[in-house]
Amino acid sequence: MFRLQGKLHNDEVDSYIQQVDSQLEAAGVLQDERLRIRLSLEEILLEYARVLGKDSDVKITVRKKFGRVRVSLDVPGEMTDPVNDTDSLVLIKTLHRWSGAPDWRYKDGVNRISFTVLTFSTTSDNLKFAWKYARKNKGYLILGVIMQLISVGLMILAPLLSARIITGITENAFSQLFYTGIALLATNLFSAVALAVCNWAYNVLYNRTLTALETELSEDVLKITNESLDEHGTGLFIQRMTTDTSSLATAFGTFADNLSQVCQYAGILVAMLFVNPLVFLAGFILLVLQILVETKRQREVKKQDRIFRNQNERYTGIIGEMVRGAKDIKLIHAEGSFRERMTERIRSANDSRMYRDSQGRKYGLIGSFVRESGLFLFILLLGTFLQKNFLSVASALVLFNYYSLLDSSATKLLSQIMDFVTDFNLSCERLHELMSPVFPKESFGTVSKKDIRGEVRFENVSFSYNIRKLGVSTRFVLSRMSFEIRPGEIVAFVGRSGCGKTTVINLISKLYEAFSGRVLIDGTDIRDLDQDSLRGCMTVVTQSPYLFQMSVRDNFRIVKPDMTDEEMVAAAKQACIAEDIERMPDGYDTILGEGGVNLSGGQKQRLAIARSLLKDSRILILDEATSALDNVTQDEIRRVIQNLRGKCTVIMIAHRFSTIVDADTIYYVGDGKILAQGTHRELMQQSEDYRSLYTMEAGFR
Ligand code: ADP
Ligand code: MG
Repeated sequence: MFRLQGKLHNDEVDSYIQQVDSQLEAAGVLQDERLRIRLSLEEILLEYARVLGKDSDVKITVRKKFGRVRVSLDVPGEMTDPVNDTDSLVLIKTLHRWSGAPDWRYKDGVNRISFTVLTFSTTSDNLKFAWKYARKNKGYLILGVIMQLISVGLMILAPLLSARIITGITENAFSQLFYTGIALLATNLFSAVALAVCNWAYNVLYNRTLTALETELSEDVLKITNESLDEHGTGLFIQRMTTDTSSLATAFGTFADNLSQVCQYAGILVAMLFVNPLVFLAGFILLVLQILVETKRQREVKKQDRIFRNQNERYTGIIGEMVRGAKDIKLIHAEGSFRERMTERIRSANDSRMYRDSQGRKYGLIGSFVRESGLFLFILLLGTFLQKNFLSVASALVLFNYYSLLDSSATKLLSQIMDFVTDFNLSCERLHELMSPVFPKESFGTVSKKDIRGEVRFENVSFSYNIRKLGVSTRFVLSRMSFEIRPGEIVAFVGRSGCGKTTVINLISKLYEAFSGRVLIDGTDIRDLDQDSLRGCMTVVTQSPYLFQMSVRDNFRIVKPDMTDEEMVAAAKQACIAEDIERMPDGYDTILGEGGVNLSGGQKQRLAIARSLLKDSRILILDEATSALDNVTQDEIRRVIQNLRGKCTVIMIAHRFSTIVDADTIYYVGDGKILAQGTHRELMQQSEDYRSLYTMEAGFR
């Protein structure tokens, strides 16, 4: 159970919400649900601060139960109900979308609000989820478990043999020593072989499970909608696909391993019970004491660990930004202020780690004390029993061996298991979330069209980027936009920056979906088209195209695996990049840097244009794709595009009018609509806005 107490001051409220949130995260509450709780909690706390004053006390508790978490909030003071009061913001913002509405009660002068949230799943649900990926290789799991049990059985046998050897030595009995020695050798060797086979089997299981899981996940991640990718950033996906997958794949091996160790310790305890019940009882009690201390240590360390991880995430976050933005940081000369932020985060992460470790050490020391005194007591007990002839020397040896086996390792095992279960559950939930509707996936229709001609039509299309976001006011980027592009036509969209030109492209390629209205290709709603028909018929070249860290040739091949060298060179020539490529150290085999860092902006754009020409699509879209080219090169490309007239539909967005003046139709975009359309000459006559945009650019030249 987690509890915090304080006043309703503004900055403290933020920290309460953070703390509750990290509790919920640790409990495996889904992200959406957490967001809702965060928002309502904030709303409720601020409402109480407003009505009852900022100096009112507040107590928040988070209780974890099986499969659910309960957050309760106590605020003493006059009766105030922010939940059912219809004027309150809480109601408007969350209740109507929220499955479990918070509950308000007033008792003994205290307002109490409680939320119950279902956590994602139990360990057994998670095991079922993980089993999906491990099932195909269950043979290895079974083999591993059998081998492990064999080795466990042999390990229990060993102390009995050791005792016989020691008594053999003290009694100077050679043949007893000889035969027992052989038995011990066989037992140990056999046990080692069994263990090796078992490890091998678990390893294969791990490997294959990981492969299956990673393959499926990487497919799923590519399907996630752009909205969701925008919202979460890349770090989250990378983290989950690397760390969490491995924790899930080890699950069965580790569980089996832990379980058989538990069997081993249980076996040892039973063996002790048979040898001498009284000594067993004493040993058992000492063990329980150790376990209690260890559980306490675990709990304390885990609490601090959670804080540390949060701090560390903040640190990794800023490191990522620093590496990616290194160039810009230098150019805007922001090293100083960046360093300050860094230092603060480094310090708080490392301080919390140090505190966590010091807590660990403290309880570790207490644990050692308990363990060593326990051992001393146990020795004392054996000594007393020997003296009183309650025990033979041989039995005392066996018991002592057993106790030493149990002593420190049993408590370690316990903490291992507890750690692993927590980790495993968290990882499962985070992975399952990736596949679940928390991260919505793109969906496609079923209509397959072979020969798309390249007609594009918008019918009253409206769109907003933040329509699904909670608590953000909706701003429509496009409102009831309509136009029709005929096959083989060359068209251009112009308008002020931010007017929604790229958004139009995003909707045609279905990176985002229209909120209302229809987008049609060849008369078919793009929602009905299957993925191959839709994405296969078009190529979009953006202002800063992404080039992969592969050779130039492979960057081409990725759009057309069966291309010939002639095709490749022809496309490169058309896009005016052939000479540049030939001048590179290895020509077409030169490996590009990540994202094409070792190329100029113009080279990247021309490579991307060449790549798109190679694909031979029915619809070619160039979104400011020539913005970084000089006028001569741009003119060349303009000619290439003119040659495409009639062969494919070309949609252009360019901020230089020279690129688009000879388009068949130019659409002037403003206020989320097409304000005017026609050829350049027509627009110059009809549209004042267009004219002013044009003359403005001409004036700069
Ligand atoms: P442009 O005409 O310059 O290409 P865009 O279509 O890119 O304009 O953007 C139109 C508007 O939508 C802008 O106001 C921009 O801030 C907003 N916008 C663009 N992309 C996103 C996004 N991924 N999320 C939220 N808002 C966006
Ligand atoms: Mg744009």
